[in-house]
Amino acid sequence: MKRIAVLTSGGDAPGMNAAIRAVFKKAVAEGIEVYGINHGYAGMVAGDIFPLDFKAVGDTVRRGGTFLYSARYPEFAELEGQLKGIEQLKKKGIEGVVVIGGDGSYHGAMRLTEHGYPAVGLPGTIDNDIVGTDYTIGFDTAVTTVVEAVDKIRDTSTSHHRTFIVEVMGRGAGDIALWSGIASGADEIIIPEKDFKFEDVVKNIQEGYENGRNHHIIILAEGVMSGAEFAEKLKEAGDRSDLRVSVLGHIQRGGSPTVRDRVLASRMGARAVELLRDGIGGVAVGIHNEELVESPILGKEEEGALFSLTEKGEIVVNNPHKADLNLYNLNVDLNKFE
Ligand code: ATP
Repeated sequence: MKRIAVLTSGGDAPGMNAAIRAVFKKAVAEGIEVYGINHGYAGMVAGDIFPLDFKAVGDTVRRGGTFLYSARYPEFAELEGQLKGIEQLKKKGIEGVVVIGGDGSYHGAMRLTEHGYPAVGLPGTIDNDIVGTDYTIGFDTAVTTVVEAVDKIRDTSTSHHRTFIVEVMGRGAGDIALWSGIASGADEIIIPEKDFKFEDVVKNIQEGYENGRNHHIIILAEGVMSGAEFAEKLKEAGDRSDLRVSVLGHIQRGGSPTVRDRVLASRMGARAVELLRDGIGGVAVGIHNEELVESPILGKEEEGALFSLTEKGEIVVNNPHKADLNLYNLNVDLNKFE
């Protein structure tokens, strides 16, 4: 393979730039040219494709966001969009593609591979909800950002004996809430993967204050409900504490990536190039027990594929991501009174 391209797609995540940079530098070391595609699959179809050079990737390892920009482009799920994209790749002499994004982006990579353009997926999202990997690029940075924010909220919570509901991102996954909750010493973590009763939360708040606690921090994963709704329901269930809601929002998506994310992104970017160099596409790179692993994106479950096609032609996830409930139980234990 003489020339490959790299794009970022779906929601952005800190560390995507480090991955792009690693793809470029590893490819150069292998004698392969690299083109950047702006705005994900939308840019591929529009022909917004340009040769990367050392200047373009210089000083990007530490930058949040993605200098190739990201986009959602549902048209790429249709054959017409894919063929248009391939037309543009052909024009530039591109033979393989690295796709950094989430599940949806992986499907695009699979389609490209099926059409003869080997594509490799790298997991880029703060939510940590992608199959085939223990950790995604951006998760560690997002959790670090949340912990910094909760540390500050805790100061004011303590000063005023206030109860804070801190709503964090994660879509359907509770990972950001679990990790940030443990690391910030939260009194309670509420995640979609674990049932809870508002009456129990009210009781915990009351008990906490009765036992001399001067604050109560609840980390709420957005996949459960909004912070405002949670506060309403808590009051309905009898909470009489001085309650505040803090929605951290998009600060969780930005910022300079942590060491862990930079290293993870660099390792994965380099592996993607090795795979394309060897003519391998239709796989996604992940990390499992600290080792890089690859899984076929689409195929049979018993062959380790991340997704399978049903008889009706629908795409199903084989081993859906599960948050680590040991962390949930640990937090419960850490908040027990004698
Ligand atoms: P995030 O997890 O941040 O949402 P994602 O990659 O899952 O990232 P999506 O919006 O689902 O985000 O997908 C990103 C892009 O991938 C889509 O806008 C579309 O261009 C392409 N894509 C999604 N699904 C498919 C599909 N079934 N076939 C081909 N391309 C797809």
